Amino acid sequence: MWNSPKVGILGGGQLGRMLVESANRLNIQANVLDVENSPAKQISAHDGHVTGSFKERESVRKLAESCDVITAEIEHVDTYALEEVASKVRVEPSWQAIRTIQNKFNQKEHLRKYGIPMADHRELQNNTPQELAQIGEQLGYPMMLKSKTMAYDGRGNFRVNSEADIPEALEALKDRPLYAEKWAYFKMELAVMVIKTKDDVLSYPTVETVQEDSICKTVYAPARNVPDAINQKAQALARKAVSAFEGKGAFGVEMFLLEDNSLMLCELASRIHNSGHWTMEGCALSQFDSHIRAILDLPIPPKSLELLQPSIMLNIIGGATPDSHLKATEAALSIPNATIHLYSKGDAKPGRKMGHVTVTAATMHEAETLIQPLIDVVDNMRA
Ligand code: ATP
Ligand code: MG
Ligand code: MG
Repeated sequence: MWNSPKVGILGGGQLGRMLVESANRLNIQANVLDVENSPAKQISAHDGHVTGSFKERESVRKLAESCDVITAEIEHVDTYALEEVASKVRVEPSWQAIRTIQNKFNQKEHLRKYGIPMADHRELQNNTPQELAQIGEQLGYPMMLKSKTMAYDGRGNFRVNSEADIPEALEALKDRPLYAEKWAYFKMELAVMVIKTKDDVLSYPTVETVQEDSICKTVYAPARNVPDAINQKAQALARKAVSAFEGKGAFGVEMFLLEDNSLMLCELASRIHNSGHWTMEGCALSQFDSHIRAILDLPIPPKSLELLQPSIMLNIIGGATPDSHLKATEAALSIPNATIHLYSKGDAKPGRKMGHVTVTAATMHEAETLIQPLIDVVDNMRA
């Protein structure tokens, strides 16, 4: 088709694996930087992979030698290594975008300049109880104490209900750079996957995400009972936020829909995202297909990002016992219209994302009915 460009991927977890699935279908070689036999490498048999870490300068250099364009499945990478290799190989999205976004506080400071609404927040300078108590007086309780860096799946968040919680909160997040956020009393969480191409900012439909213990449990596409005006506002907010960063590819934008129907940004990710997994069955092009196309300047017909059928995605998360995720998978086998994706990550740990299931149907109501038995299994495992 063309002189097949090579894509380098920092990180070989489930997101890298699903990117490789898309690259494979277009005969594009994807070289993965991660430990041997990581989920992405398992489905890609060639000798271009690099064993190492996306946090090591030398490994990133090595990957860059064999690729035309480098991208990342995770934002917690060595952006100084990316800055260095950017003179030799294209880096998408830009290392500047990844560097700003990987620090949630810097991300918000940057987005504030673009008028993006978000919860009021304060930076901690020395992580003392006195300092946090003072911030608590300003923001009120509850407030969310957050790590600026290395945050994912809520690991890095601590809800502070009152001044009495402060010692425990600081202990839980000790030795991390912190900021505190005013509590957002949302009625729903929304998300939009944005695809930045060389000359466009495209987006997938607005979805509803449900988090349990700060970790994504289900995603409903489209968001249920959200009037079109709010949907349009969410689309505009997401595109505006992503436009504040340089570079091409997929960006996940998480938002809060507040009681007064106003929207606030929760956070943004410079990558393919859990809230966009449903696109694999719900749209003609998945977020992974679109990401590969965007970073390689290949056409993305906007129509291919439209919803084909209402879709519900459920994460299969490691539970109390090493095999609880297998019980969920087993139950999913009997659900009509369910597509199961397992990530082949090896042993389950509580809270570890092991796979996901997407159910599609002609109506959202039908999809809800079909997936309910599986949600019941997952809920019973937690109980
Ligand atoms: P991710 O896995 O999406 O990267 P994360 O660890 O970076 O998550 P956040 O997205 O900041 O964490 O927060 C996780 C969840 O915690 C949110 O989806 C929301 O449910 C809740 N949350 C975060 N900030 C607030 C807030 N200010 N007020 C109320 N709830 C919040
Ligand atoms: Mg995050
Ligand atoms: Mg989040």
